Amino acid sequence: DQNWVIHSNEDEVSLAYKTRRAQPYIVVLVGAAATLILSVYFGKVLGNRSRQVEVSKELELKVSKDELLSLASHQLRTPSTAVKHYTGMLLQGYGGKIDRKQREFLNRAYSANERQLEIINQILHVSRIETGSLVLAIEPVNITQITKALILEYQKPLKDKKQIVKLNIENKLPEVQGDPIYLTIIIENLLTNASKYTPDGGKISIHLYTDSSCLILEVSDTGVGIDKKDVGQLFKKFSRVHNDLSIRSGGSGIGLYLSKLIVELHGGTIEIISRRGIGSTFRVKLPLIAHKKL
Ligand code: ADP
Repeated sequence: DQNWVIHSNEDEVSLAYKTRRAQPYIVVLVGAAATLILSVYFGKVLGNRSRQVEVSKELELKVSKDELLSLASHQLRTPSTAVKHYTGMLLQGYGGKIDRKQREFLNRAYSANERQLEIINQILHVSRIETGSLVLAIEPVNITQITKALILEYQKPLKDKKQIVKLNIENKLPEVQGDPIYLTIIIENLLTNASKYTPDGGKISIHLYTDSSCLILEVSDTGVGIDKKDVGQLFKKFSRVHNDLSIRSGGSGIGLYLSKLIVELHGGTIEIISRRGIGSTFRVKLPLIAHKKL
């Protein structure tokens, strides 16, 4: 400010001169600052733009991959179902008498085909949920009945592995509002996982109870457990976590992802409590009052 208090022409000239002399530095400084700000700004804009392009390309690729998977699964379901029928008919003797060796091979083909169909169906369920085309058929559901029916259905494989299932159900357990077909998928997944990831002779416990607002389903096992660092991987699509039993038992890594999607469609939550080498508990909470979305 002081510089601009001018009393004489001379001063004015000398001041103007000083100012002019000072100008190059200011110009350089302002220029440098502006260049810096602009380059940061444009760098950001361009960075954001190229990131956006990258993300949209990734998204496009993901959508086309998902579509392809869903389409392939759809196309594979009919021939796979035909294989199930014909191997079933051979096993039942409709094609004539079969010897022990032939029965053994057919049994293997039958169960491999069952696994194949299960994966196909899981992918189709996932794609229906992800595209928003699934409409749940909501009705009052008796979770006790579903759980007991599943234990009965898996009696043979559980017995083969000498695993016992203990069922603990709260008195007068209320029904939940949900789609019985999809709720069955969750319980079946947790039960079969508990069996798959538990060594022979282990124990599986299923506990059904309520708190003030939810029905709670807990499936616990005395199996291999999961490391804390791997927990984030469990509920991701096609994500398998390696453990002592994962190679032997096989799998596609879609079961828990699908279960989580279904639980969330019902307005519930799923969590896991586990210790490596000790066992795991999967806890599903389903609201007792129908969720808004439903
Ligand atoms: P999959 O069983 O086909 O691999 P899932 O989505 O059902 O796929 O499970 C993902 C992973 O979570 C499995 O690969 C396994 O490592 C782990 N897991 C699931 N259930 C259990 C369990 N009860 N005990 C230990 N690990 C489990």
